[in-house]
Amino acid sequence: MSNTEQAPEALRCTPPPGAAAGVEVLEPREVPLGGPRALLVRRTIPQRARTLIGAWCFADHYGPVAVPATGGMDVAPHPHTGLQTVSWLFSGEIEHRDSLGTHALIRPGEMNLMTGGRGIAHSEVSTPDTTVVHGVQLWVALPEADRHADRDFQHHVPGPVRIDGAELRVFLGSLAGSASPVRTFTPLLGAQIDLDPHATITLDVDAGYEHGVLVDAGEVRLDGTALRRAELGYAAPGTAALTLVNDADAPARLILLGGPPFEEEIVMWWNFIARTHDEIVEARDEWEAATDRFGAVEGYPGDRLPAPPLPNAVIMPRRNPLPPKRTDDRASEPVVRRVDAELLYEIAIDGARAGLTAYRDRGDQRIFYHTEVDSSFARKGLAATLVEQALLDARAAGKRIVPVCPYVARFVKRHPEFADATDQVSPQVLHWLEVELG
Ligand code: MN
Repeated sequence: MSNTEQAPEALRCTPPPGAAAGVEVLEPREVPLGGPRALLVRRTIPQRARTLIGAWCFADHYGPVAVPATGGMDVAPHPHTGLQTVSWLFSGEIEHRDSLGTHALIRPGEMNLMTGGRGIAHSEVSTPDTTVVHGVQLWVALPEADRHADRDFQHHVPGPVRIDGAELRVFLGSLAGSASPVRTFTPLLGAQIDLDPHATITLDVDAGYEHGVLVDAGEVRLDGTALRRAELGYAAPGTAALTLVNDADAPARLILLGGPPFEEEIVMWWNFIARTHDEIVEARDEWEAATDRFGAVEGYPGDRLPAPPLPNAVIMPRRNPLPPKRTDDRASEPVVRRVDAELLYEIAIDGARAGLTAYRDRGDQRIFYHTEVDSSFARKGLAATLVEQALLDARAAGKRIVPVCPYVARFVKRHPEFADATDQVSPQVLHWLEVELG
């Protein structure tokens, strides 16, 4: 599946710290897949709050939707680098063609894993008999040592495994005694779980993994946290068991993802994963020039997808929020500093970034649009300290404060000493910011 999103970053301001630890709920945003009757997908990663779960770096959930309404799926040949795609359907049938020469049908309960290390191209079209499309499209980031791997395609049909309260289909990794033979470049877990009505199950998992639960149907509780349909619940490493509860009279269905935290910074743009902006530019140029890096897809009736224009700004690397850190009485005082190269202020504890407030300068205005503090730093008042120091610095530099971020807006409201240095958020500012952030 191709990422046809034109404006890859939504404005999102995370709430101030103090939110309960435990399962983090990642809400989906709707992204049209393109075409005249665009299929809407619900994307949960990547988003600002989280880029990866293990090496899983992209999760789109779509349908169930009737094909006459959307025209189904028709994604013309497009390239990939530095990743594997995992296609998993709940209903419908999709015809896959790639530049390795693969021509395969993707069916419910059958996993197709395509490797596009150095470069591959593929097309995906729902078959004429398909009346409903419904499934997930997942990407896996390849680690440094393997990210230029050769093209590959693997197919696996996991046998359903019955446990008390649920049926499991383990397509990657192992769970509840069921193991997938499919090779991956980093340890991964991927499984469909169908929970019976009023079922509670506890699954033993690798405590070194982080996990994500994407709800396809129904509503479940993951370790006590309610997850609605299309939401992704994130559980940090350190737990050896996950408990899933379905309180409803109907079954619930979910996808469980997992893997050890992926520590590398990645640069994602369109359908490419790389490590630097320049690598993205090179991959885009080669796709546009139709070099043999990506090869040709035979049998697709139509043109290839052109790459969208590159953004004006340098594409910044993404990585996850800081891993959980133990803080205790001996931890030193937090330090706030302005990081000009990244257009943000950071708050650091013992040299590690614990939070940031990001800004853009528009003339004499400093527009604060996003604040986040890593909640794993169990210390009160980090966001307030960060924002207070940032506002003092902006004011001292002769800047007008524009509080687009709701957290900064609340802070300014509670601290009237900044009122004289604050400008209202205007539609012009919001429009300018949207363009600026591309
Ligand atoms: Mn694709």
